[in-house]
Amino acid sequence: MPREILKKYFGYDAFRPLQEEVITAIYEGRDCLVIMPTGSGKSLCYQIPAIGLPGTAIVVSPLISLMKDQVDALRTAGVKAAYLNSSLEYAEQRRVENDFLDGKLDLLYVSPEKISAANGFGFFHRVKINLFAIDEAHCISTWGHDFRPDYKTLQGIKEKFPGIPVIALTATADRVTRRDIAQLLRLQEPAQFIASFDRPNIYLEARPGQQRIPQIISFIENRPNEAGIIYCLSKKSTEQLAIKLRKRGIKAEHYHAGMNPEDRSKVQEAFLKDEISVVCATVAFGMGIDKSNVRWVIHYNMPKNIEGYYQEIGRSGRDGLPAHALLFYSYADIRVWREIISEIENREFAEIQRNKLERMMQFAEAVSCRRRILLTYFNEDKAENCGHCDICKNPPRHIDGTLIAQKALSAVYRLKESVGLNMLIDVLRGSQRRDIFLNNYHLIKTYGKGKDLSFEQWRNYLRQLINLGYLEMAPDEKMVLKLTPASNRVLFEKEQVQLVDMQTAREHLAREKAAAKARQKSPRQRARNQLFEHLRELRMKLAREKNVPPYVIFSDASLEEMAAKAPTSLEAFANISGVGEMKLKTYGPVFVQAIEEFIAQTGFKPDPPTAEPIVAPLCEPKKSSAEITLELYQQGLSLHEIAEKRGFVPATIFAHFVQLIQNGEHIDTSDLISEEETQKIIAAQEQLQASKLKELFEHFDEKIPYEKLRLALALKERRESVGS
Ligand code: ADP
Ligand code: ZN
Repeated sequence: MPREILKKYFGYDAFRPLQEEVITAIYEGRDCLVIMPTGSGKSLCYQIPAIGLPGTAIVVSPLISLMKDQVDALRTAGVKAAYLNSSLEYAEQRRVENDFLDGKLDLLYVSPEKISAANGFGFFHRVKINLFAIDEAHCISTWGHDFRPDYKTLQGIKEKFPGIPVIALTATADRVTRRDIAQLLRLQEPAQFIASFDRPNIYLEARPGQQRIPQIISFIENRPNEAGIIYCLSKKSTEQLAIKLRKRGIKAEHYHAGMNPEDRSKVQEAFLKDEISVVCATVAFGMGIDKSNVRWVIHYNMPKNIEGYYQEIGRSGRDGLPAHALLFYSYADIRVWREIISEIENREFAEIQRNKLERMMQFAEAVSCRRRILLTYFNEDKAENCGHCDICKNPPRHIDGTLIAQKALSAVYRLKESVGLNMLIDVLRGSQRRDIFLNNYHLIKTYGKGKDLSFEQWRNYLRQLINLGYLEMAPDEKMVLKLTPASNRVLFEKEQVQLVDMQTAREHLAREKAAAKARQKSPRQRARNQLFEHLRELRMKLAREKNVPPYVIFSDASLEEMAAKAPTSLEAFANISGVGEMKLKTYGPVFVQAIEEFIAQTGFKPDPPTAEPIVAPLCEPKKSSAEITLELYQQGLSLHEIAEKRGFVPATIFAHFVQLIQNGEHIDTSDLISEEETQKIIAAQEQLQASKLKELFEHFDEKIPYEKLRLALALKERRESVGS
């Protein structure tokens, strides 16, 4: 049954990891604690039981903007959902309340303050509730990074609704918060589901933060029309960066907490609706971003810890298609964070923050698989390198860095440990800076001895020497470089030093350019992209008409599949992942028509199908899926044989049979339903005057599946029409 709902409403064929397990636990009436990373599909875990179980589900969600999008998405899929929060006009609110009280809703989204409002719980008592889903459940914990006082009301939920399952969901990994959630919500022996934090579709990359702007520009120009977020540390840099990008013709805007709410929501809306493709933002941007087709996230500055970094990159690739996370890091960022941490009064807390920063730096400067480092950080063991990060793709070369180290350390020694990183490099490279001559640095023995390396290379090597403990930066003395006991071993005991040859900004730029060439696709690839663009525009037009974000209509993943398979019949269209019954009905015809037109204009041929051919020959009248089932039935195949042959679940064929009977076809149903059962259902329907299947379903204590109910009613209709 959950699987049928998955197909019927959401158009997906298979569950993602843990979804089915969570759903089963909810059907068993258990409280659940669900910890899954962003984008892993948490919402379906409660949406499916909400649809399948009798009664209405209450979903508590802290973000008003997100609530609307989620409800829009559900409605587009044909699910009866609504929301109540402070943004609604009075009349609208009354309408939703009435629908709820009339039992017309499968899901009601509410903001926490709506529950705090005096009679919140009382209101819910007037209707059969099948479950409470608490989204972003970490908001209840003062330990979490986003405590919301309104969530406190939820503490009474189990007491007020004993026996109704409460599902707490969050992407927060940290253990204290997890425990807190279960305790505060008073969950009873909750079933715990903790998914892997791995997001294998996100490519991980880090680069030193030099020449960021040209790198970012070519990165974006290599990805036309792709949506992305650039996180910056300061409000000002978000603004400046956006200006620079716009000058290059990139549709970019900035977003930060200093803007007024209207401007902020304008930017957010435009981004959600694919009207702008890039947002340069501080971390204030993102909590309310449910956009599934963010293709990349760039960190213009290094975040202060891995939790933040991971959450931010997690906003990309929610649709499961490839995404790219590019981190820039520089010593300047680290210095900013250190300063901020040094102002923290609570020493213990400051120490924790310092350690977290340290781990973040190690990640940024890593010379081994980045995904392994990340997952280790989240206490997950990954035994193999991922093959999908910059380190795995271009393993750094180890070089003998002894001479480099000797030159650098000896210069530090001769400069009497009195200069910072930049001056040291300038001296090594023999710069003509005026202050070098003023200070007589040009007279020391190592002056100009490092000309063979670029400024950036030197910076990389020096950073490594610092990390390896051969040099120290004195934070209390304006970051002047100091020698350490280990430096003496290099200077006086000929200790060998291994360094890693890092890629320079120039090399990264060159690589980006080469990637642009490589992206120049084969003609068919280009045609496919063209069809994708064509469908994207159609989606945009429809989204505008309905005033919803485009991904609510179809995800990028669905569009990709459409562009690859180019379905020209509704039946083929129904096989696209993400096309449920409602979307097939609403959008199938326009999309199929657009594809047909595209084929007619361009002679485009879809990718050869991988399984049985799904595109019917154009000259034949197109058959519906049910008609194909009928043909097979008439050839003598049973329901199960048809299901097997067509690769469908039996329920789908069952549904075809019902449809065929409704269409007046003759189908022998004696194997599917007994006469006794048929009579029982018909009698109940007449007695209840039930207009909705759900009422019948509940009448029979949910023991008779919907399809059977439908079948009985179809038989009734047939009998009535033939007058028997
Ligand atoms: P989360 O709440 O965990 O961040 P969502 O529930 O928003 O994630 O799901 C992320 C995306 O994955 C959505 O576009 C959703 O439609 C899609 N999705 C969820 N479950 C499946 C599935 N079983 N098969 C395909 N796509 C899925
Ligand atoms: Zn890797």
